[in-house]
Amino acid sequence: MLDLTKWDITYLSGVGPQRAALLGKEASIFTLHDLLYYFPYKYVDRSRIYTIRELNGNMPYIQLRGQILSFETAGEGRQRRLIAHFSDGTGVVDLVWFQGIKYLTGKYKVRQDYIVFGRPTVFGGRINLAHPDIDPADEVQLSPIGLQPYYNTTEKMKRSFLNSHAIEKFVATALQFIKEPLPETLTPDILASRHLMSLTDALRNIHFPTSTETLRRAQCRLKFEELFYVQLDILRYTKERQRHYRGYVFARVGKAFNDFYSYHLPFSLTEAQKRVLREIRRDLGSGRQMNRLLQGDVGSGKTLVALMSMLIALDNGYQACLMAPTEILASQHAETIRSLLADMDIRVELLTGSVKGKKREAILQGLLTGDVNILVGTHAVAEDTVHFASLGLVVIDEQHRFGVAQRAKLWTKSGQPPHVLVMTATPIPRTLAMTLYGDLDVSVIDELPPGRKPVVTLHQFDNRRESLYRSMRKQIAQGRQVYIVYPLIQESEKIDLKNLEEGYEHVCAAFPDCRVCKVHGRMKPAEKDEQMQLFVSGQAQIMVATTVIEVGVNVPNASVMIIENAERFGLSQLHQLRGRVGRGADQSFCILVTGYKLSEDTRKRIEIMVRSNDGFEIAEADLKLRGPGDLEGTQQSGIAFNLKIADLAHDGQLLQYAREEAQAVVDADPSASSPRYALLWRQLRALRKDNAANWSLIS
Ligand code: ADP
Ligand code: MG
Repeated sequence: MLDLTKWDITYLSGVGPQRAALLGKEASIFTLHDLLYYFPYKYVDRSRIYTIRELNGNMPYIQLRGQILSFETAGEGRQRRLIAHFSDGTGVVDLVWFQGIKYLTGKYKVRQDYIVFGRPTVFGGRINLAHPDIDPADEVQLSPIGLQPYYNTTEKMKRSFLNSHAIEKFVATALQFIKEPLPETLTPDILASRHLMSLTDALRNIHFPTSTETLRRAQCRLKFEELFYVQLDILRYTKERQRHYRGYVFARVGKAFNDFYSYHLPFSLTEAQKRVLREIRRDLGSGRQMNRLLQGDVGSGKTLVALMSMLIALDNGYQACLMAPTEILASQHAETIRSLLADMDIRVELLTGSVKGKKREAILQGLLTGDVNILVGTHAVAEDTVHFASLGLVVIDEQHRFGVAQRAKLWTKSGQPPHVLVMTATPIPRTLAMTLYGDLDVSVIDELPPGRKPVVTLHQFDNRRESLYRSMRKQIAQGRQVYIVYPLIQESEKIDLKNLEEGYEHVCAAFPDCRVCKVHGRMKPAEKDEQMQLFVSGQAQIMVATTVIEVGVNVPNASVMIIENAERFGLSQLHQLRGRVGRGADQSFCILVTGYKLSEDTRKRIEIMVRSNDGFEIAEADLKLRGPGDLEGTQQSGIAFNLKIADLAHDGQLLQYAREEAQAVVDADPSASSPRYALLWRQLRALRKDNAANWSLIS
């Protein structure tokens, strides 16, 4: 069978050693296989031939058919250029090249028919086509629909005439070479059930589509395949884990849960909370280790769900642990949980980096004997010195901030891996969740507790500060509290700190009657806690802070969130910050303050924030604006997105199909040994070898 990966690109007609070296270095094209998988980034309709009379300087790429009347060189040094006066009988345009003059004059002849392709610009009153593609008219294959592929090339490649057109020719040559069908990379079953094109047809049509419909089908097939193998890898890994580890069985719901539910729960659960709790209970009783992602917008009541899940663990004789990304959050969780459990006989301890000495010893001891029932903490709980008597459930708040490695580390804390519940308030679009956390099941709390008023979001330019302060004074006079947040990004931490300090001084001066507290990441934990406490207790009316308050802080009386330099925040971050207000019964406000000049992207972000309160809508918009590679959390998580053709922002439906097919394969052949699927497993191994660096998360 034809194995394209064995065919060195050097031997393709027209390439040779020099160009092959360049193709390898600049575009990672080493073999025919690489070449055929070097997909066009766009297609240009070449079916229409324009006349020179029609042209103006305001057109996209067009093509002309005509002859070169004469050549001329002009200019000196870097301005030296070759001009070909080109006519089709309706007028004359200048074709201009700044490079390769000798080569070009040797190659093209006057008074011969050429098809010229380029973008018209007007220069010195004449129409120019700079660096056009030019081919003998009888050689140009105008495909029936006239779609021409365009390939990315680097400057270095272009300088050696390895432009898009050259790649196109190589691909055409390579395709001629393929006489028999290429070995399939998907099974006949999958191809049939999803109506997918064969690999050979897809590769032909992705480069030279015979119609827009075949182009669509070719793209569909190749995207599907890409997504399928990512999912197959993830699901296979999950299956493997399930085969090796059994989960603790939490068979009963007992005293702790029931007492809490009957006597301590200060309100009734929302329908969404009930549904999610049922999903969790089913997992915990199944004998399978739970790995569940709990998504819910800020303020949707995830903490309560987490607590009740922990009580089930306790009822079955196990300990539970809640891990939060910051000290502030961890201590807030510990406090919330202690007050909710009030006089119940449950020992809750807080373990962070700043818990030291005797106190720490006592906690560690209590964990070993099983006296500590619930441990709340930062990543300090994952340290090697921390051992549990019987850790049954781990809850991780804000997974984004923990690497997958840290998650895995908690498993080693008891004989068997505990159940894991991951909570995130950054709603992750479904498509991304399936790729990032593909080994997790997903539960969603899609309902806020009753009585919440949606936050009103406004955009204000920073030169209107006085009116902003007036609104603040009004709110403060009504007994409300205000957050003012400044951006803090690592590279310019010093400048940001200066902004924050200046802002703080400014606010203190503008609000002489108010107490203003200040929190940022450079503070010592004790100092930070003290300042936080001022705000939580209501002694301070205004808090000036960096994004350290982004996650979890809960002050229901705070009703105004002012975000300075809002243009410097991503959408998800803005939404997170906004979630700090709107937690009480009063109408809350979020004010996005920006400079006057805004980029198009920023304008869109602000507009979405003003329009929508829906975390999922915002997350989807974020994904579309920024692309998945930039999305918060994807960098830390260790997955590099190496998708060549599929696009997570737009191919959600295909991803869903791909996942269903992959799931079916893994279910039918859990040990990856059936000859029926041998083809798929072989292909998966080959891909993993190819992408070793990028797929590292999964193994
Ligand atoms: P999240 O962690 O999802 O952002 P929290 O668990 O911190 O949300 O809950 C936000 C607030 O809503 C808390 O003050 C919590 O006590 C309250 N809350 C949670 N569930 C309910 C409910 N069912 N009814 C009323 N209030 C609730
Ligand atoms: Mg929370």
